[in-house]
Amino acid sequence: MAIVGVAFCEAAPAFAYLRFGVPVAGRTVAVKWTHNPVHYRVFETGVSDVSALQFREAIASAFASWEAVQTARIRYTFDGFTSTSRPGDEDSVSTLGFADRPELDRVLASTTLLVDEETGALLESDIFFNASFPWSTAPNGEPGRFDLASIAVQEIGHFSGLGHSALGETELVSTGRRVLGAEAVMFPIAFGPGSTTGRTLRPDDIAGLSDVYPDGSFRVTRAACRARSRATACRSTARMWSRSVREQARWSGISR
Ligand SMILES: [Zn+2]
Repeated sequence: MAIVGVAFCEAAPAFAYLRFGVPVAGRTVAVKWTHNPVHYRVFETGVSDVSALQFREAIASAFASWEAVQTARIRYTFDGFTSTSRPGDEDSVSTLGFADRPELDRVLASTTLLVDEETGALLESDIFFNASFPWSTAPNGEPGRFDLASIAVQEIGHFSGLGHSALGETELVSTGRRVLGAEAVMFPIAFGPGSTTGRTLRPDDIAGLSDVYPDGSFRVTRAACRARSRATACRSTARMWSRSVREQARWSGISR
């Protein structure tokens, strides 16, 4: 029986996704939404090259990418634009939008999660996109501009309770790090300006979301993960969370 288990394990894809977790009574519970659909709003102020409407369309496509995961059960609902709830405000409204943060010169976007520390239930999740960078919502991307939908896909992964994945490779360049390849949109460092690669979920991302919000058909993969529990890869991360948790998408350099 043990041998069967090992063989099965090795045949399974090597996943590297991480789930956010909170320590509750000596064990780690997953950070996740406990209601479905998850409601969000969009801050109504755009930037010079991306209107609020274009922003809303780009993030709708990013939410749709995650909703298309057939082995996961999570849906998202747009509740309209807001002029009063800014991303980052603790106001029980999950808001996505631009914020001008020139001091964060390597942070493209950032997700803040409010978590019930007793249960791991997500209470609110906000995402800001740094207006100091050049953004694009062009269908095929634009040279010199970051693809909003690509960055949104990763941030929505965080919004949903996923951490970073280790499936990628970088090299050191004069300005920091450049991504050579990534097998997960949840790889922490974004592709450069002009790239739309991050719009498309990879098997590791799909496995991660399905692990947090399984629809029933994901059972086999979860068993494979449990079998590999000695590897860091499939384990939920046990981290000490303050009430507010921040995850940031960076395009080059430094730790996260
Ligand atoms: Zn990230």
